[in-house]
Amino acid sequence: MRLAACLAGSLLLALSGEGSVSGERCPIELTFVHYPVAGLTLEQIKQSMRANGPVEPDGTRRYARTDWKIQWIWDKTDVGVDPSTVRIVCKATVTLPEHDSPQTMSQAELGRWTEYRARLKMHELNHVRHVEVVAPKISREIGRQSAQQGQLSARAAQKIAKEVIREIHGLDRSYDRSTRHGATEGI
Ligand SMILES: [Zn+2]
Repeated sequence: MRLAACLAGSLLLALSGEGSVSGERCPIELTFVHYPVAGLTLEQIKQSMRANGPVEPDGTRRYARTDWKIQWIWDKTDVGVDPSTVRIVCKATVTLPEHDSPQTMSQAELGRWTEYRARLKMHELNHVRHVEVVAPKISREIGRQSAQQGQLSARAAQKIAKEVIREIHGLDRSYDRSTRHGATEGI
């Protein structure tokens, strides 16, 4: 896999959109990684993407992918977790193709490619949005359950965090299932 030809810096992403009951968002520390592709037409570039695209853990090669990570931290008290100190950090890396010599393409093909790549990017950013919208549930749920039951043990709080992670993975899977990894979105 020829990855990381160029690395864009991290940036804070403020995605718009609905989905969170509380409206709370986890700011995403977003990094773009590009892998090079070549070709004079969109079809040729797709061939290049099929040869050079990122590989999933199960070995499937994709045109693009999003890796994300959520970290959580809290202060401990004698009893357990202080719910007012729960902090979450959300990071994502989006891997996308980048044409190595777009100036060689005709205007028409360059236009097709640019549009196609924008759709690809949008699909990946929807995965990022799952994290942005759902991750705050970790602190929210710990706060809610602490209010009901008194302070939670670290173990109980960890369990909540892991359930939220599973929920986001589930959203990613159902989004890919319903769009057939973007096929229904023109990818
Ligand atoms: Zn996807």
